[in-house]
Amino acid sequence: MTENNNATDKRLNFIEKIISKDLKQGVVSKITTRFPPEPNGYLHIGHAKSICLNFGLAKQFGGQCNLRFDDTNPAKEELEYVDSIKEDVKWLGFQWDGAVHFTSDYFDQLYAWAITLIKENKAYVCNLDQAQMREYRGNLTTEGKNSPYRTRSIDENLALFEQMRAGELAEGSCSLRVKVDMQHPNMQMRDPVIYRIKKMAHHQTGDKWCIYPSYDYAHGQSDALEGISHSICTLEFEEHRPLYNWFIENLPVPNTPQQYEFSRLNINYTITSKRKLKQLVDENHVDGWDDPRMPTISGMRRRGFTPKSIRQFCDMAGVTRVDGIVDVSMLEYAIRNDLNENAQRAMCVLHPLKVVLTNYPDNQQQQMSAPGHPNRDDLGTRTLPFGREIFIDQDDFREVANKKYKRLVIGKRTRLRNSYIIEADTAIKDSDGNITEVHARLIEDTVGKNPADGIKAKGVIHWVSAEDNIDCEVRLYDRLFTAEAPDAGGKDFLSSLNPDSLAILTGCKAEIGLANAALEDHYQFEREGYFILDSKYSSKDKIVFNRTISLRDTWERKV
Ligand code: ATP
Ligand code: MG
Repeated sequence: MTENNNATDKRLNFIEKIISKDLKQGVVSKITTRFPPEPNGYLHIGHAKSICLNFGLAKQFGGQCNLRFDDTNPAKEELEYVDSIKEDVKWLGFQWDGAVHFTSDYFDQLYAWAITLIKENKAYVCNLDQAQMREYRGNLTTEGKNSPYRTRSIDENLALFEQMRAGELAEGSCSLRVKVDMQHPNMQMRDPVIYRIKKMAHHQTGDKWCIYPSYDYAHGQSDALEGISHSICTLEFEEHRPLYNWFIENLPVPNTPQQYEFSRLNINYTITSKRKLKQLVDENHVDGWDDPRMPTISGMRRRGFTPKSIRQFCDMAGVTRVDGIVDVSMLEYAIRNDLNENAQRAMCVLHPLKVVLTNYPDNQQQQMSAPGHPNRDDLGTRTLPFGREIFIDQDDFREVANKKYKRLVIGKRTRLRNSYIIEADTAIKDSDGNITEVHARLIEDTVGKNPADGIKAKGVIHWVSAEDNIDCEVRLYDRLFTAEAPDAGGKDFLSSLNPDSLAILTGCKAEIGLANAALEDHYQFEREGYFILDSKYSSKDKIVFNRTISLRDTWERKV
């Protein structure tokens, strides 16, 4: 599956080096990693990187990887997100070890340890409100001041914490903080809050709790309880590492995990912030979390990306500690690469123009044969009905054209893909002068052969039978944002939404075999790009194809 993560055939990244060394030196006998999403949105391409890294390392080094929902904030979390995250991880090709874990599984233990901290005089209930707490905390250049509640007795703290837990105190009236050091140069160490009152039901624990642990307090202890050896997170948590270690040192945890940070994945023309993606969904700028233009795993799946292409992209992006921005064309390269090798070929005319072959008998039909894939015999052959009337694309016909135009022109020849060479005679027009039909002739005995008269055809165009085809809708996508860094410098990312990111074409005509297309089938529509059925809008009565990606990168030419 993750053949790209084979330790023997490439240079190791810095995390692989650490793990290799730890295994060699016997620091651990087996590695355990985890992927710890907060169920407050759908997973995006940035998460895919973390998934590939954590599950990939476990596979590569014969260890295990857990899936743990970091569910400490009931206000923003929902079961819908839990379900979508599990589906996305599996679809990417990974399976977590054992049962799914939840940080909320450890709420009892975390609560017990909070009491341990109070009893050891390492935690206190503080009544400063948020603004006061901020003022007391100081900043990078000003030392913090001790909270006036810091010297409360152990008994008073125990009693107050019990009142917090029992729901007897109001939200915001107090919190539990650990006693670390208000003068510490690292702001994270200035007596961080570890429990807050939130009188709110939780999707896993219901009404059991009205106090919830902070992320910093819960995360490392959950790692320790699960026996995580290498806890890998993104660089913004580097500053939290001393606190992570403080908890591990000050609590009777069964294991001592180590935190390592890597730089998060950023991609140009793309947003990877759950909050902003949620805003796009909530304000209906897109058609849900799985809109094919979204950088979510579910959006990319609906668009026609493959798990393999996403894994390859994550591998190409690499694992470092240097922040950078990856070019979105690398992701597009990965999907083209996979689909070029594996997508079945087909023909679909997006803007149909009828061509009548005047020298072909009215009542006759013949079957053309075409390969499923030019280099893959295993993909078989397709049969294309051919008759007197066919559709070609409007763009593939001109009444007059210069030499560069290698398609159908009056008085000139062109080849129909997998079929005859034809020559155009006349363009039929409506009263407004629009071309409604082209009359042409086929050149006899030219299927798979050059014409006997030696007059060659220019170019090859795609076509479908006008009688035997399927009618479909085709959705073409462009980048969702026109700006390279849509949310840079506090800019409103909505201002660079691309108004032309979705084009819906109706009345498209596809070869008849596509009537049997299945949801998971990928196609290359010759000359048009790679396509897949839209899982949301396709039905028995209506066929809708999404363009996953064009055949070539056309973006540079457009701007
Ligand atoms: P967001 O800011 O989008 O909400 P998050 O980091 O808060 O992202 P989590 O659900 O906490 O979202 O993320 C789960 C895991 O995925 C974490 O370990 C996190 O570090 C990692 N992750 C999130 N975004 C990225 C990214 N862009 N690149 C790499 N890893 C990421
Ligand atoms: Mg997070």
